[in-house]
Amino acid sequence: MLKVGILGGGQLGRMLLQTAANYPVETFVLENDKECPAAHLCHHFTRGDIKEFDSVYNFGKNLDAITIEIENVNVEALEKLETEGVKVFPKPSVLRTIKNKILQKEYYRQHQIPTADFIITNSLSELKLAEDFLPAVHKVGEGGYDGKGVQLLKAKEHIARGFDTPSILEKMVAIHKEIAQMVAINEKGETALYPPVEMLFDPELNLLDYQLCPAELSTQTLYRVEAIALSVVRNFKSPGVFAVEMFVDKNGDVLVNETAPRVHNSGHHTIEAHFCSQFDMLWRIILGYPLGNTDAILPSIMVNIIGAEGYSGKVKYVGLEEVLKIENAFVHLYGKKETRPGRKMGHVTILSNEKQDLLHQSNKVKRTLLAKA
Ligand code: ADP
Repeated sequence: MLKVGILGGGQLGRMLLQTAANYPVETFVLENDKECPAAHLCHHFTRGDIKEFDSVYNFGKNLDAITIEIENVNVEALEKLETEGVKVFPKPSVLRTIKNKILQKEYYRQHQIPTADFIITNSLSELKLAEDFLPAVHKVGEGGYDGKGVQLLKAKEHIARGFDTPSILEKMVAIHKEIAQMVAINEKGETALYPPVEMLFDPELNLLDYQLCPAELSTQTLYRVEAIALSVVRNFKSPGVFAVEMFVDKNGDVLVNETAPRVHNSGHHTIEAHFCSQFDMLWRIILGYPLGNTDAILPSIMVNIIGAEGYSGKVKYVGLEEVLKIENAFVHLYGKKETRPGRKMGHVTILSNEKQDLLHQSNKVKRTLLAKA
């Protein structure tokens, strides 16, 4: 049996492990929090910091392969492990590029992948000189996630909200739709594309709220989205599962926002709504099996269950019974002990051929199932 490690023990690790149980694989997790969502689902849990060289290197040195559920890991240790023959999904070179938004944007530019025009600012004083570039979005080079480290700078009065560290200043896109395309690529370079999903964001929390699959796009836009996503992924020259997040702007142009080189929130619905889930797909790639079937069984909407505003502490789920009565809804709770406003606590996927039914049930789920303390 192959020994495979996962860096990070959050919900993505948890769902990867749920699928690992179907395959001949011995699983290992490295994570600081021994109560994390993935801790009790792996064969071997190691407590340690995924950002520290020694803990990642020592964790990985006796494994056959290693994967990640978050980009913010020690890449140097993964590079050393790679030279010693441990397979890393995705390759550390990809993590190095993606982890830093400056390098990531330069990668798109270098490969002629359409993305919003940008400049680099190293400090607030440099940002002040870039007034003419507004309206724009300021994004911290390293360390931002889930909307932290992103500031909309519509006018020069907003410049003080910017970041005093190396960052990108990106032209504000007139967004028509935010979509994501999941792409799988194996070691032979064979690829499989899931249908793109369409996202709506909670304007207050800046977190993914719910997502529709398939995204409603013209055939022409769909082809463009697929071609761009394939080009993003192929140029990395690395096996893995990737989520390419894109904007369709008001002119119908498709621009890459960012890429996650891993299983992703925008692929959660694939667990029930597609023949092969994103988690199953990653195991197939790591273990060297054929790629799975990405076709949808039914259209779906995925709703994130996020910690309710005003509640922090030991989580209590309100409305779970009522949501479990919905025949076409599938509930996933991540087993997090504590809730906080905005924390991702679970998700629910609804399957239906009728868009009205998808919308109706997803709104009902969002109103009914609440993570309170
Ligand atoms: P994070 O990595 O923290 O999720 P993103 O780069 O995805 O940050 O930005 C968060 C959100 O900000 C996006 O989902 C989008 O709604 C908005 N946004 C990001 N870049 C732009 C842009 N260039 N123009 C307009 N809105 C943007």
